[in-house]
Amino acid sequence: MSRVALCTRRLGLTATTKPPRRPPSLIRHAESRQASQAHVRGLHSTSYLSQRSSHAPKGDAAWPSAPDGGSVSDIAFAFDIDGVLYRGGQGIPGAHEMLRSIRSKNMRYVFLTNGGGAHEDAKAASLIKRLGLSLDEDVIRDRVILSHTPMRGWAREVKKQTVLITGSHPETARKIANESGPRGPLRPKNGLYIFRRLTSFLLRYGFDRAVTPADLIHANGHLYPFDKLKDTLHSEFRPLPDGKSASAVTDPYSTSVAGNALRIDQILVWNDPRDWSLDIQVIHDLLVSHKGYLGTFSSRNGNRTLPNNGWQQDGQPELWISNLDLVWKAEYHMNRFGTGAFLEALKGVWRAVTNGAELQYNALGKPSQFTYDYAHTRLLQYYSTMEGGKQADGGRKDIAPLRRVYMIGDNPESDIRGANEYCPEDGTEWVSILVRTGVWTETEAEREPRYKPAAIVDDVVDGIVWALRNEGVDIDRKTLLAPGAGGWNEGG
Ligand SMILES: [Mg+2]
Repeated sequence: MSRVALCTRRLGLTATTKPPRRPPSLIRHAESRQASQAHVRGLHSTSYLSQRSSHAPKGDAAWPSAPDGGSVSDIAFAFDIDGVLYRGGQGIPGAHEMLRSIRSKNMRYVFLTNGGGAHEDAKAASLIKRLGLSLDEDVIRDRVILSHTPMRGWAREVKKQTVLITGSHPETARKIANESGPRGPLRPKNGLYIFRRLTSFLLRYGFDRAVTPADLIHANGHLYPFDKLKDTLHSEFRPLPDGKSASAVTDPYSTSVAGNALRIDQILVWNDPRDWSLDIQVIHDLLVSHKGYLGTFSSRNGNRTLPNNGWQQDGQPELWISNLDLVWKAEYHMNRFGTGAFLEALKGVWRAVTNGAELQYNALGKPSQFTYDYAHTRLLQYYSTMEGGKQADGGRKDIAPLRRVYMIGDNPESDIRGANEYCPEDGTEWVSILVRTGVWTETEAEREPRYKPAAIVDDVVDGIVWALRNEGVDIDRKTLLAPGAGGWNEGG
């Protein structure tokens, strides 16, 4: 199928959730039919990608060149992390040598993970440690995109709202969400320094009014009738913002709400929740409420004359899920539940409570188109800001066009599906490569993944070799991993 036909089909996808009411030019998660890229197994297989684009710009000396004189300066890579670069605490053999190699060639790449709950810098430090890299190497930093990173680009008016935030460590999530940007006076150093400080300030998370489930059970001891784990999991809490109360409402059906009643505007499931019971209770309470006021119950709920039988039709908060991964690969020999499993549990309870109504939510992370948009923009803007790279423009954040991006992942449902379905407006082609080191395993029952990649390879090193060969670069695994990567074919 041609790319145009594929993209046309993608645009016709049916969204399972309603369009966003308020925000931030965000794109909702959409169920889709699987893309139809050719399924190629191994490094030497043929594929629809064998017809390389002929409009590649001429390469400069810093870039490996294809034999026909084309360049790979307009290709880039997006790496998933868990199951691709490391598995549990162990780096995938060859991964750090491969990264040094492509970095030494000034190739563009980002790390696009559905992981979250930490700051991007902390994830970068973790990746550096697990891969055996040193902190002073410019191989990882400023390239990590977590599931919730796109929230940095949300509109300021949304960030001023009151949000409920939960995740594996809600207090940690709140501290990150509160992030106020760089501290200290902005002393003139140079243009690049000032530019980065301003960018960092504008792209901070900046949610000033974030509430956690722990805040709520400390504010109202009757809200949750079971063990509240106040001395352990939920020991950290803060007073509700702006002097609001979690006990102001006593009549759930009254539409005359006290001025100090707590209202939540957005619900952010930051990453894998720990206390599913409490979180589902609190999220349910807000989704059945009148305009997000805690402790109320909307009179529209169950009204069959309204869309979705009246559920989530009364100004309730938007529900944001940071990723949809049902499972992920950790150190245990079997896949473990992820944020997507929590969502399925919430859907089940919601279906039972509402007699079958749809749970309306927004999804970030892979395979969300918004997340791929964010990564694509980062890759486009990346070249001129690379430290140690070519900065003939003085490091300005110019747009450097892309022709093709290779997404290397281990999860067909997120990494592969997202790349297959993503059609950026500039016409760049996103190509998916599946590795065997992570979530997906070929079994008797599943000989092929549901969402088919352009290639299936043994590991991330083979993935890069496959991609470069697809671009016509004469390279093999040994050459790619050679110290200093001096064996790369520079001249074709
Ligand atoms: Mg993964």
